[in-house]
Amino acid sequence: MKQTYSVALPSHINQQLMDHLKRDDGDEELCFALYNPSTGASRFSAIIDEIILPDEGDRQVHGNVSFNPEYLERSIQLAQIKQKGLAIIHIHPGPGFQYMSRDDVRAESGIAGATKSVTGLPLLGMTAGIDGAWSARFWFRSKAKKRSYKNTWCESVRVIGDTLKIHFNNDLLKPSITEEALLRTISAWGRSVQEDISRLRIAIVGLGSVGSMVAECLARTGFARFVLIDFDRYEEKNRDRSMNVKRKHIGMLKVDVAGQAIKQNGTANRITVEKIPFSIYEESAFKAALNCDVVFSCVDRPHARQILNFIAYAHLIPVIDGGILVRTNKTNTRLVGADWKIQTVGYERPCLECLEQFTGSLANLDKEGLLDDPKYMQGADESIRRLVSNENVFAFSMNVASLEVLQLLSMIVLPQYQARLKQQFYHFTTHQFEDDHEKQCKDNCFYKGITGLGDNTGVIMYMHIMPSLLE
Ligand SMILES: [Zn+2]
Ligand SMILES: [Zn+2]
Repeated sequence: MKQTYSVALPSHINQQLMDHLKRDDGDEELCFALYNPSTGASRFSAIIDEIILPDEGDRQVHGNVSFNPEYLERSIQLAQIKQKGLAIIHIHPGPGFQYMSRDDVRAESGIAGATKSVTGLPLLGMTAGIDGAWSARFWFRSKAKKRSYKNTWCESVRVIGDTLKIHFNNDLLKPSITEEALLRTISAWGRSVQEDISRLRIAIVGLGSVGSMVAECLARTGFARFVLIDFDRYEEKNRDRSMNVKRKHIGMLKVDVAGQAIKQNGTANRITVEKIPFSIYEESAFKAALNCDVVFSCVDRPHARQILNFIAYAHLIPVIDGGILVRTNKTNTRLVGADWKIQTVGYERPCLECLEQFTGSLANLDKEGLLDDPKYMQGADESIRRLVSNENVFAFSMNVASLEVLQLLSMIVLPQYQARLKQQFYHFTTHQFEDDHEKQCKDNCFYKGITGLGDNTGVIMYMHIMPSLLE
């Protein structure tokens, strides 16, 4: 996988930046900001989490804006104390993606060396267009020329809030659309939405019932960049509720079967599927998820959900999750209830733990392997045993998969005032559909507290597993 670069901007920071940068007199404006690194398997992202506004006298704004050394020094020092990276951000008077002027190159390359040596992280340069479009680049030491710094452009700048707005760099990432196959889809929401869809990198974690349907739905809708994460293989007992799984697929890795179906059924022009046959708590899978713009959580175990919840907050990657609970009588001869819940979690949304979709103690039991230990499970109480029972029906999963994809589409197709969706429930026995806009994270929620910290949370969620143990 080619190394790529990106920036994540929480929407309140994006708003603060635009408020500061857009001047009534139309002159250029600048500021410094701090970022947390987020290191994926092949994508390095800067999560901007603090703006350092200039004081009076910190910069000159006459046509081309410039900063005074004191402002730079103050900002670099703050970055060093807080162990964060430094970003220099300015605005241009034109709309759309902005390249650098000669002055921009001079200014940014001139401070790249000092920034790297003090903070240990590469300088990030960002330019806004007057319409709010973003371009960004990191500055690395040049291999060819001693003591000089060279910029590498970011593939995207992601603004994350009620909506997910991604500013792509067209030079690095071109849209991938098959016009004829997507005629009706494009006519539903327009070409520019479809271009974004074809460039979003989506992880699907868990390719059982719901995951296989989410994959099919996204592939048909024209999504083109997939990361599939699942260690498991299909068994005969999966066939009643999994999409595209035929008799001949029994015994095959789920990621291989789903990957093949995506390529065969997908409507985008160039489809890439990265297959990760590991659990999300293994380093390679965890870091592959950090390469993505959105993650679908199609897992049913509490430990996996805990990790995905962590990724949603720490790394500012929206996670779309769904869960089905089927209740039967004691002898499994009669259905008593079936309910499913769908929620998108992450920045400024209530988390899976506060929504009671997992608990820390159940995640620990799962982590220790006790949920797979028949002896332990025999003595465990009903609520724990229900976690691994997995009663389910194709049509239930299909509804969940569809609602999950609708949550994603809301974030990228709808305007901000319509986009916000929290938790949705469906009750099969009463045919009631509900949603809950009131729930919030608890005040002392751990996940809320690590929002946007990226690699700087101080917690390592994944395990290092020796390759020899994987056989
Ligand atoms: Zn400029
Ligand atoms: Zn919470």
